[in-house]
Amino acid sequence: MRIILFGPPGVGKGTQAKLLAEEFAIPHISTGDLLRAAVKNKTPLGMKAQEYMSQGNLVPDEIMIGLIEEVLSSKKASKGFILDGFPRTVAQAKALDALFERMGIALDRVISLRVEHDEVIRRLAARRMCRQCGRIYNLHQLDDETTKCQDCGGELYQREDDKPETSRHRLEVYLKETKPLKDFYRRSGRFTQIDGMKDIPVVHKTLLDLLLKNGLPKE
Ligand code: AMP
Repeated sequence: MRIILFGPPGVGKGTQAKLLAEEFAIPHISTGDLLRAAVKNKTPLGMKAQEYMSQGNLVPDEIMIGLIEEVLSSKKASKGFILDGFPRTVAQAKALDALFERMGIALDRVISLRVEHDEVIRRLAARRMCRQCGRIYNLHQLDDETTKCQDCGGELYQREDDKPETSRHRLEVYLKETKPLKDFYRRSGRFTQIDGMKDIPVVHKTLLDLLLKNGLPKE
């Protein structure tokens, strides 16, 4: 199964992608996670990306396209994948189509999670992430004493770019650069939009129903 989870920052793509990845035993490929790991490890990619990320801007297309080509051509992605955070521009979407053609594979579906803008800002402000494994929490789920990840014990922190000023800018970038992709994928007949305002298990069930109803193969 090859799908893209699409939507603004904070809509729940990462959370839902992780659940689906477990369910279907395919990798969750988050370009944001890959970039954060590169920044943490101070790799050449991380050095190039850091400035853009901290300001809530998009990392240039040529860097992102090179990165996704490398990841999707790897063995771990050969049975399918869930893409989260890529593509974010029309140029990236076109490059992805060209890559799929070269690889002789097809994208099954682009699923867009829809959420109101005020809710996005609220969710980003309340989001906390594990510095070690990247698990995502919402402040409202955590009591005051919880400062460590329940999975790995890593420290929970607020992403610099989730702070209100930067998250508002990220939403603007989304509206300008990324939202137009909806039309790109709608035209190709591979696009479905679902309500992302509901609770996590409800959205997960909607996604599962949709994917299974479509008769998508697990591999
Ligand atoms: P995310 O975790 O998906 O919100 O991504 C965090 C940041 O990484 C974004 O605000 C961008 O700076 C950068 N980023 C992630 N994916 C992409 C992409 N496909 N194109 C450009 N920049 C990206």
